[in-house]
Amino acid sequence: MLIAGNWKMFKTPSEAASFCRALRESIGDVGNVDVAVCPPYVALANAIAELAGSEISVYAQNVHWAENGAFTGEISTGMLAELGAAGSIVGHSERRQYFGETDETVAKRAKATIDAGMKVIACVGELESERDANETEAVLARQLAPIVSEIGVHERLVIAYEPVWAIGTGKTASPAQAEDAHAFIRSIIDVPILYGGSVKPDNAGELMSQPNVNGALVGGASLDVDSFVSLCAAAAVVA
Ligand code: PEP
Repeated sequence: MLIAGNWKMFKTPSEAASFCRALRESIGDVGNVDVAVCPPYVALANAIAELAGSEISVYAQNVHWAENGAFTGEISTGMLAELGAAGSIVGHSERRQYFGETDETVAKRAKATIDAGMKVIACVGELESERDANETEAVLARQLAPIVSEIGVHERLVIAYEPVWAIGTGKTASPAQAEDAHAFIRSIIDVPILYGGSVKPDNAGELMSQPNVNGALVGGASLDVDSFVSLCAAAAVVA
């Protein structure tokens, strides 16, 4: 089971360093749970340095598919690898909503990361209007198609199911809704599938105990050390 904290655009390099020091001291034994943090680019080096030699890995929040080139504002897999990042999130709904990310560019980013020998957490998920229109499965199938054709099942590929209506809203998918979506995703691509969307220490246990839920991608509740540690401990109970 993987619990990954997506910090979004929170924490400066020095804040990241103190968070990682505190996390390392307080995480304790989380058994079968793999723990990862995903700081902003500028805080990656500090997080990696503070967590060196621990079991906690560090991922970026996005990565470009080209090795280098005229892509202002982007970062390549080689740059992340040299820093010691374990991998990257790609296709977060905020990237899709605000930065023009498409199903195809998400798959290109994911493929380049796998090809560079790193791990990928590729995000998919429907809008509330799409769920209301009974389009959830069609949307997931459309988002997954280029990932399946570019990569397919791979040991370093993880999918995160993040219903957009549950991200940062406090509205969590019910365990049954999450399980249904995860089972559908698994019927398309059988890799570990994380749930994301308002996961907190008090709902993590029930969500993580669904048969097709293999971990969580956590936003808000990953920004506070105590809350993130409690959430990882709750997952460890059912892992
Ligand atoms: C996320 O950012 O991926 C996320 C799921 O956010 P939150 O946990 O705050 O809903």
